[in-house]
Amino acid sequence: MAINWYPGHMHKAQREIRKILGEVDLFIEVLDARIPYSSENPMIAQIRGDKPCIKILNKCDLADPATTELWLDYFRQSKNTDAIAVSAKTPASLRNIIELCKTMAPNRNQPGKPVRALIAGIPNVGKSTTINILANRIIAKTGNEPAVTKSQQRINIGDGVILYDTPGMLWPKVENENSGYRLAITGAIKETAFDLDDIATYAAEYLTEAYPQALKERYKLDEFADNGYDTLELIGRKRGCLRAGGRVEMNKAAKILLTELRDMQIAPITMETPTMCIAEQKEVDAR
Ligand code: GDP
Repeated sequence: MAINWYPGHMHKAQREIRKILGEVDLFIEVLDARIPYSSENPMIAQIRGDKPCIKILNKCDLADPATTELWLDYFRQSKNTDAIAVSAKTPASLRNIIELCKTMAPNRNQPGKPVRALIAGIPNVGKSTTINILANRIIAKTGNEPAVTKSQQRINIGDGVILYDTPGMLWPKVENENSGYRLAITGAIKETAFDLDDIATYAAEYLTEAYPQALKERYKLDEFADNGYDTLELIGRKRGCLRAGGRVEMNKAAKILLTELRDMQIAPITMETPTMCIAEQKEVDAR
């Protein structure tokens, strides 16, 4: 599966982050709550050393609440790490980030010294939305903060917290091909890089295991086929994606499943669990 993350870009982003590393007190990593493992940037873990890290599980409105709880517990087991689930749909949920920054910062007992937090995230996790919400709240309060733009790197969000936006573009877990599928399913990677039938087959396979009831109800299926591809075919048949001669148009079926999965028409769904990802990571590490 081809993903276009060039080593040149990776090195540049790493260099840029290292330049400002000494200035920041902690990291905020914005993740997609539907894929908290696959949307992590592998470099952050390496580069941050002992600095505290807050994992933001954003888009929690789209994710399975029970699995979100599992992920929060999972992240909190790591050293110097806390995690919260938020959603841009409920901007108030983001306020807790500011308090968390203050609790986690090593300089929390130095009055008057702002906490400087580097906010990072792979594309499409909602990093910009998060920054805008955090900043807008302050703009509304003080009325004299400039509007946040993409080019601005340091954003004083008031309340004693300064956000440092990460320079450069961060990449996801490219070494795990399962992550590639899940990033494509959630829309983090453009579909054009993939074979649509392949991604939808992966999705169908996972959903029959993890959300069988919701899948059956949505597509009025009595039973699943014994593999993802054939289950996708059943879905296509139910939705009338038929060619002449009664063959299922798989591309159409794939589009239906992926669109409805992303639009939360099946259920709030998380595409990976901590148990799954620990096992996958072990395999990747053993290679
Ligand atoms: P960035 O690339 O990480 O800066 O991501 P953006 O902030 O541009 O957000 C990517 C897309 O996700 C946009 O279409 C946002 O509207 C959407 N988005 C961001 N946060 C949320 C959220 O909490 N819930 C939902 N449902 N959509 C969100």
